[in-house]
Amino acid sequence: MNNLKLPADDQSCGWYETLPPQPASLTLEGTQQSDWLVIGGGFVGTAATRRLAELNPHQKVTLIDAQRIGHGTSGRNSGFVIDLPHKGDLEGPDIERKKKFITLNRAAIQYLEERVQQHGIDCQWSHAGKLQGAVSERGVKFLEHFQSLLKELDEPFEMLDRQALRPRVGTGYYQQALFTPGCTLMQPAALMRGMLAHMPANVTCYEETPVLKLERRNGRWIASTRHGEIQAAKVILGTNIFTEQLGYLKSRMLPIMTFASMTRPLSAAEFAAYGGGDDWGLTPADHAGTTLRMTQDRRLIVRNQYRFVPRYGSTAQQRQQIQAMHRQALIARYPMLKDLPFDYTWGGVCALSRNYTSFFGELEDGLFASCCHNGVGAARGTISGKLLAEMASGGDSQLQRFMQEVSGMPARLPPQPFLGVGVRARLKYAEWVSRSEV
Ligand SMILES: Cc1cc2nc3c(=O)[nH]c(=O)nc-3n(C[C@H](O)[C@H](O)[C@H](O)COP(=O)(O)OP(=O)(O)OC[C@H]3O[C@@H](n4cnc5c(N)ncnc54)[C@H](O)[C@@H]3O)c2cc1C
Repeated sequence: MNNLKLPADDQSCGWYETLPPQPASLTLEGTQQSDWLVIGGGFVGTAATRRLAELNPHQKVTLIDAQRIGHGTSGRNSGFVIDLPHKGDLEGPDIERKKKFITLNRAAIQYLEERVQQHGIDCQWSHAGKLQGAVSERGVKFLEHFQSLLKELDEPFEMLDRQALRPRVGTGYYQQALFTPGCTLMQPAALMRGMLAHMPANVTCYEETPVLKLERRNGRWIASTRHGEIQAAKVILGTNIFTEQLGYLKSRMLPIMTFASMTRPLSAAEFAAYGGGDDWGLTPADHAGTTLRMTQDRRLIVRNQYRFVPRYGSTAQQRQQIQAMHRQALIARYPMLKDLPFDYTWGGVCALSRNYTSFFGELEDGLFASCCHNGVGAARGTISGKLLAEMASGGDSQLQRFMQEVSGMPARLPPQPFLGVGVRARLKYAEWVSRSEV
């Protein structure tokens, strides 16, 4: 219990730090009883909590997080809620499987959009779509492949050349970009805080209260914290990589951190010099490349670099070095903004699996989990959290079956030190072959 690795994200996430100050959180003291307990308040946990409360209006639902909601990875990502299957999910010959991903992802977008509209959540929610940009010939080949997969799926897209792209993104750095219209953009920390602020009345949320131990006693689940415990009939884990710290899915998820930097808002003169539009997002044609966002309030965000983080964290020195790399990427694209400072640089830990498989289902009697969304959990995490709540409440639906069919068991990982050596070598290799796209 003492050696448990707990969430301790850096305090420099621009999405979170630019929100208005949060009122003090409710932390857990003493022993509490609950019908339902959800541990972890990211995409999975907030969607699961809300759905449990809707389906069981006369029961008590408790959500608990080690940090403030919105401070974990779900509040520190690049804010793309992607409708199409991503990376490994898009490869392979099974068209029907890919269509299931699309149906699930679009159900997630619809679910989030309904909440955003219903409660007026101010989170830069936007139907901006997604650009995927290629810098070099290597990137163009990826886009051509992506285009052929989209044709097979009969999904709409638009290919833009350098001239067509420039007025949108203010740079001629990219040879080509492929635009797909179904992706939604948002401010992730604002979305997470908004989800929390509008929970049904039968939800209690404890923040800054890490669960140190989870065990089953006399037919009840007991979650122990520093100053108390919660006893519940059923538990949902939305703890992603930290699930193994609670004793489940051990040695099956790779802790990989990626990093982002955010500028201050561009002044009117800087925006004119930049010459592009606002409110767009571009992901790299090659995975190891750079993600870019221009927010609605005219901040530029750069994301790249992956690190294997067995302790789930990064140091201030590492983030400083990474900020210098982000600066290079920014200046290469926008030399006219070379004096524009980054106000924030942060990291976030994701769970990846060797076989590109997520877990969704029951781990033990009354204990459910959804995790390991391989770095793209905004859509999958949300819909899986909602469906897990329905499953745990005894429901059944076609979407739930789709989720079960596309999920599985993340493959077991080799032990340390072989794991660390292998993963670091692989990340270095990917960085080297993709260097033209960074
Ligand atoms: C820089 C960056 C950019 C990204 N960009 C995108 C993107 O654009 N689109 C996309 O889809 N995905 C993106 N991702 C990945 C995405 O953010 C994750 O897949 C997603 O956040 C996973 O959601 P989750 O709910 O499963 O877990 P998490 O967001 O990790 O939430 C887990 C929660 O559990 C809590 N917790 C853990 N252990 C305990 C404990 N013992 N007690 C109490 N609470 C606990 C944590 O504090 C945390 O809040 C990005 C990630 C990063 C880092």
